[in-house]
Amino acid sequence: MVVCAKCKKEMQCIKTGMTVRYREEGEHAYAGDMLECPVCKATIAVTNSNSYFDEGAKRATDWDVWMDADKGFKVEA
Ligand SMILES: [Zn+2]
Repeated sequence: MVVCAKCKKEMQCIKTGMTVRYREEGEHAYAGDMLECPVCKATIAVTNSNSYFDEGAKRATDWDVWMDADKGFKVEA
């Protein structure tokens, strides 16, 4: 169980099969699920610990989380 520490409510899964991506092209990937707090709407991405090679930006969706995205990594539409 994953609980929102602020609201004391169980986080709810809102998307299975999203991806957390690393590196400039996002090819270093972890499969995960997106959870959301039903009260404050905070979201977290939960993944397993097994990374795999993916095609990065070519296969990215709007659900994907890009680590260090503040460095300018972007998904091209
Ligand atoms: Zn919350």
